[in-house]
Amino acid sequence: MSNIKKTAVVTGAAGFLGSHLTDRLLAEGYKVIGIDNLLTGNTRNIAHLAGNPDFHFIKHDVTNYIYLPGEVHLVFHFASPASPIDYLKLPIQTMKVGSLGTHNTLGLAKAKGATFLLASTSETYGDPLEHPQKETYWGNVNPIGPRGVYDEAKRFAEAMTMAYHRAHGVDTKIVRIFNTYGPRMRLEDGRVVPAFIGQALEGRPLTVFGDGSQTRSFCYVSDLIDGIYKLSQSERHEPVNIGNPAEMTIRQFAEAILRITGSSQPIIEKELPKDDPKVRQPDITLARQLLGWEPKVSFEDGIRRTIDYFRDFLRINS
Ligand code: UDP
Repeated sequence: MSNIKKTAVVTGAAGFLGSHLTDRLLAEGYKVIGIDNLLTGNTRNIAHLAGNPDFHFIKHDVTNYIYLPGEVHLVFHFASPASPIDYLKLPIQTMKVGSLGTHNTLGLAKAKGATFLLASTSETYGDPLEHPQKETYWGNVNPIGPRGVYDEAKRFAEAMTMAYHRAHGVDTKIVRIFNTYGPRMRLEDGRVVPAFIGQALEGRPLTVFGDGSQTRSFCYVSDLIDGIYKLSQSERHEPVNIGNPAEMTIRQFAEAILRITGSSQPIIEKELPKDDPKVRQPDITLARQLLGWEPKVSFEDGIRRTIDYFRDFLRINS
């Protein structure tokens, strides 16, 4: 029996995190069924898996019923628009994939007797009044603001996941993902990492929103995926933060991008989006204790790898 591979389902498999998670699961010896409706994902991210007998792709919108024959051991629900610009453009789809999509993927896990892992977010903490953020903090979210469609969908998704665990005994996990970056992000997704790198590489001014004093803490994608994989193998049902506590202001981040790319573009200020969190930093004590996990890739290394990816991407697509 031990040489029979287990099957994992990844929703959002053609997205940034979903595609890296799929790679990790294949490397761990799983068969992977990747599902994506390609609304914000792109098959370019999984093109290298074409012909891999352990990978199967289904183009499907998980807000509709999911029918899959055969055994499934793990379900990872990663489908969602995830950048502020995307979820402002796609507010209803964002709410549907967080609510109906979570219901359907939980239903799949229940029907198959599979473990379920929800991709939740530091956005559940909103514009936080506690800093750094521990899992015990309930958050400060504006439900009717522009970011509410994402924040509240993910908060609903967490509540639904705990309900399936408590009412149906499904083995569920919840990861709260903090700002993550790396290859396969979309250059035009509006998030600060691809925005600043794209601007620096293409010779445009770097657009800092507000005065740039707001902070974020950036985690390289391989570290994040490692934490998520370890969580999927753990016994923990309550949410766990995964992210890198190395915090900086957005202005410091812009200066770092200029330095590392060797750009001499100016930094210009643009209007700060509504409800933009003023600070964000994960407290990862729980992940350290529970999973023996912590980030390993330095900011400098991770950013250099990401810049190399975007440089190649621009060369190939120009
Ligand atoms: N930001 C910025 N310039 C940009 C894009 C984003 O100054 O061109 C800021 C944004 O206002 C926020 C931070 O960078 O304070 C991180 O934004 P991002 O969209 O990456 O994700 P968030 O952490 O807000 O979900």
